[in-house]
Amino acid sequence: MKIPKNGMSKEKIFNQLESFRTNDLDWRSGRAFGYIFDPGPEVLGISKEAYSLFLTENGLDFTAFPSLLRLENELVDMARKHLHGDEQVVGNFTSGGTESIILAVKTARDYFRAKRPEIKEPEMILPTTGHAAFHKAAHYLQVKVVQTPVDPITFKADVKAVRDAITHNTILLVGSAPSYAHGVVDPIRALGELALEKGILLHSDACMGGFMLPYFRRLGAPVPDFDFSVPGVSSLSVDLHKYAYAAKGASLILYRNKDLRKYQIFACSRWAGYTVVNNAVQSSKSGGPMAAAWAVINFIGDDGYLEFARRKLEATRRVVEGIEKIPELRLLGRPEMCLVAFTSDMVNVFHLIDDMNDKGWYIQPALSFDNSQQHIHMSINVSNVKWIDKFLSDLEDSVHQVLNRKAEELPAGLQQALTSLDPSAMTGEVFSRMLQMAGINGTELPRKMADINEILNMLSPELRERLLVEYVNNLFC
Ligand SMILES: *Cc1c(COP(=O)(O)O)cnc(C)c1O
Repeated sequence: MKIPKNGMSKEKIFNQLESFRTNDLDWRSGRAFGYIFDPGPEVLGISKEAYSLFLTENGLDFTAFPSLLRLENELVDMARKHLHGDEQVVGNFTSGGTESIILAVKTARDYFRAKRPEIKEPEMILPTTGHAAFHKAAHYLQVKVVQTPVDPITFKADVKAVRDAITHNTILLVGSAPSYAHGVVDPIRALGELALEKGILLHSDACMGGFMLPYFRRLGAPVPDFDFSVPGVSSLSVDLHKYAYAAKGASLILYRNKDLRKYQIFACSRWAGYTVVNNAVQSSKSGGPMAAAWAVINFIGDDGYLEFARRKLEATRRVVEGIEKIPELRLLGRPEMCLVAFTSDMVNVFHLIDDMNDKGWYIQPALSFDNSQQHIHMSINVSNVKWIDKFLSDLEDSVHQVLNRKAEELPAGLQQALTSLDPSAMTGEVFSRMLQMAGINGTELPRKMADINEILNMLSPELRERLLVEYVNNLFC
């Protein structure tokens, strides 16, 4: 593809753009349990209109666009009241959970650089269920991640293990509300007490649950404390582009007070251009996501979110009951919101996923890690509610199909190669050969994912990461 000599017609452009989407995940059907948080066409319409209205406004400079300062402050104000924060709690709008988490880690690091300069190699303690974004933040910011195990039945952080992992270099503890993988809320209250006792910070990762859990609680669901009502919580991330149904590119990072948030802000006046002062990672940025988030929250309103929560709670209860009735399947943990994890000791879950995919469903694979075995993840949404019965009968059907099918083995040579891998001998070329043996062409997207997932699942996390990097490095131009 080259830049066209003469511009294309509007019609051609939009025909093409539409056609590019043919193989995308069909989320409009309501049969996808992940990636898209679909609030229905009416809310989407509001979101698009507000997004377009602020598409061109630039968040680089709030003195030029005071509208964006106002939108950001109003979003933070709504969120802190929603999450038991007082007037001291402050925060900022970011592009997503990852950016919020990077900022929380940077703030903790720089706070301790100022307060405890003797700490040269800062560490954060992350339960094994903590989101990958913390590893990314640690990698970018040179903070060491110390992982601690989670309970093998509840999949919640083990507070004793966290206590035992604290050293003189520990600056930050992390708890999830809920964790993405199993949808359970860590014992944030106990972690908060520990953080206060040790004089360190605690981040509550409420990217998934921050917006919805208060509604689940109002409906009588037993939701553990996770927000600013817990004295030790020093920062909290809450994504608006998940269960607040905002357009993507919307999250908030909140802090207990300004003394802490100060370490998040970056100012630069040592270059020849305009003066820079940024709250977040991005500099020039569209006002679209912020305006869309503001519009959607105000459009749905408190009663609207409560009604959404009611439907999701009911749907989750039915999914959990349905899975428990299928003897080949087994839940991992007890969902405390509307995220469900289940596995099987009798059928191959990766083949089960592909089989369900052929029936028009999207459910997400998760590889084994530490004491969490490979499983299937579902994020349940209002758009899925009408499909629950059909989903469960198809799931039961697929379980039997995969059970009765002759086991689809990976090529023998490959299996053997995988189990006798020497990590130091792994070059890019070896990785490409492995992918080829599994029938994966390095420059195309595979349709059947079971083989790839099975290969990845057999490898150590380190080799998985290297293989993925090789694959993606070849896929993108
Ligand atoms: C989604 C999620 C994140 C990361 O958020 P992005 O918006 O994808 O960057 C972090 N933590 C949890 C618990 C999440 O569910």
